[in-house]
Amino acid sequence: MADVVVIGSGPAGCRTAEIVAKQGYEVIVIEEHPEAGKPTQCTGFVSEKIGKIPDDIIVNKIARARFCSGKSSFEVKAKKPMILMDRLGFDKFVFGEALAAGVQFRFSTRYQQFEGDNVLTNITTHKTRILVGADGPNSTVAKSKNLKIPENKLLLMQVNVKSTFDPSVVELWFGSDIAPGSFAWVVPENDEYARVGLMTDKNPIPFLEKFLKERIGETEVFNRIGDSIRFGIIEKSVADRVLLVGDAATQVKPFSAGGLVYGQLGARIAGEACVKSLEANDFSETFLYENYDKVWKSQLSRPIKNGMRLKSVISKFQDNSLVFSMLNKFGLSRFASLVDVDLIGKD
Ligand SMILES: Cc1cc2nc3c(=O)[nH]c(=O)nc-3n(C[C@H](O)[C@H](O)[C@H](O)COP(=O)(O)OP(=O)(O)OC[C@H]3O[C@@H](n4cnc5c(N)ncnc54)[C@H](O)[C@@H]3O)c2cc1C
Repeated sequence: MADVVVIGSGPAGCRTAEIVAKQGYEVIVIEEHPEAGKPTQCTGFVSEKIGKIPDDIIVNKIARARFCSGKSSFEVKAKKPMILMDRLGFDKFVFGEALAAGVQFRFSTRYQQFEGDNVLTNITTHKTRILVGADGPNSTVAKSKNLKIPENKLLLMQVNVKSTFDPSVVELWFGSDIAPGSFAWVVPENDEYARVGLMTDKNPIPFLEKFLKERIGETEVFNRIGDSIRFGIIEKSVADRVLLVGDAATQVKPFSAGGLVYGQLGARIAGEACVKSLEANDFSETFLYENYDKVWKSQLSRPIKNGMRLKSVISKFQDNSLVFSMLNKFGLSRFASLVDVDLIGKD
């Protein structure tokens, strides 16, 4: 019998697994894809709160953000530069740390159901004391245990483009003709290449095509990616023997859809909660609630709620250029400087 089975080899799953395995417990990660980190579905833009990462996965560091709506724009400068990472490199780094801690991986294996202490997959059955659902925003673990992920959903789409860019500034574009319900971004890797994308509650494809045409013009486009995120506060992220972490637990910034920093924080707390549970031989929902659900929410509920407020204020004003520029004068720029920081601790 394994001590912990984790579904999903993304950064939240690998980090949780690593923390438990480091205490000498047997941990198995089940992943439906043939390797960790692929396919890559991410811009890879994070604050320094992501923790220590290898230098060779840092693509760019950017301190300035330009907010654009119609003909209005204003700029804010972050106190600490944001980091643009090679997301595949990050996943491989977290995977490598889990592997070094003794975590076992089963790739090309799809989780289906958890019955008693049996984890059923399309290949075989594993017995476990605890099951961790780190299987992303459409979590099968959540569905199979009747844990309800918030319905709020955005669809994201991004391409890499070759053109001319200022590598020191990120652009965020607002407007219901650009990205209804959210915004479009241009994140430069250097002066020649950028990651350009948008998120919306509608079909993102026509909006991204239009945005590319208007903002970039004719250009070489490659590496098209797309996925969804959910946001809000999950009512319950635990059940008997089960906990959810990362995107599966909506540990995601509602405004920017960034899930890496919150997910890593959630994963550390999840790993520690699993260890406590194994030490106490108590896998009940009540024990997991006290040591996991309550603990991560004490750190992330408020930032998530503030992120939802920020999202709703900016989306209300996104179509009115005059109001947009007036708000800049009256302090939106200060408010907006919170946009891609994490709203946790001192930003
Ligand atoms: C276009 C786009 C851009 C983004 N940009 C940023 C950004 O700039 N900064 C940021 O912080 N965040 C960003 N995000 C969000 C970020 O990618 C996620 O928050 C992050 O990947 C969540 O990590 P995770 O480990 O929780 O889940 P995931 O990385 O989604 O990993 C879940 C894993 O579970 C596996 N899985 C799912 N179901 C099963 C099953 N039944 N059986 C076995 N395996 C299963 C999947 O294959 C996957 O490997 C972006 C997202 C998108 C879509």
